[in-house]
Amino acid sequence: MSDTLSIGDPPITVHLRKNARAKRYSLRISNKDGKISLTLPRWSNLNEAMAFARDQEGWMRKHLAKQLQPIEVRFGETILLDGIAHEIAHGQGRSVVVVDGVIYVPGRDEQLVPKLRAYFKTLARERLVPASEYYAGLLGKSIGRVTLRDTRSRWGSCTSDGHLMYSWRLVMAPRAVQDYVAAHEACHLVEMNHSDAYWSLVAQVSPNYKVDRNWLKVNGTLLHQYQL
Ligand SMILES: [Zn+2]
Repeated sequence: MSDTLSIGDPPITVHLRKNARAKRYSLRISNKDGKISLTLPRWSNLNEAMAFARDQEGWMRKHLAKQLQPIEVRFGETILLDGIAHEIAHGQGRSVVVVDGVIYVPGRDEQLVPKLRAYFKTLARERLVPASEYYAGLLGKSIGRVTLRDTRSRWGSCTSDGHLMYSWRLVMAPRAVQDYVAAHEACHLVEMNHSDAYWSLVAQVSPNYKVDRNWLKVNGTLLHQYQL
């Protein structure tokens, strides 16, 4: 049996996963990347799997559309900052300022997106660099260069020579989640893997990490929906 099915036009790729304990066919769409998996019981066959997936085509398309729907960033709308919805309002002067749940952005409408993006990137650096240094320090390590990017597949990464990369979109997540990602990457300075030893290190420096990691699993897609 092939590992994927192709359903409809434009085609939706469905990844097949055999599970001897499964009692029925079931579909799942990942919140993170929209990947669709079809779990197959032991007695399954390809024709039935295909028929089941075809039956669910409407459901899959509805969910995919909802998941990837872009959120336009405009004056008067809200956007997440530190996990809290902030209103975007016209500002004065030259700099973006945040006061009492409002982000004031100076300039014309067409400058809003690039200005807010630049502001978020600066904020991300201001938070994630000290946080990385802090967690690295706890582990007796030091960090290399820190790069901020707009990545889709990962929130952070760490190279073997200690250079770190983060998605600047993390500033939209709660502060605790930003700290968790910094702790996660700092722990890779010690363990370049996701072994049990690695996760027990994460638990030591970031005891609530499961809650924060779960926040990203559930809400991560939303951070990418904003058209920034
Ligand atoms: Zn990792």
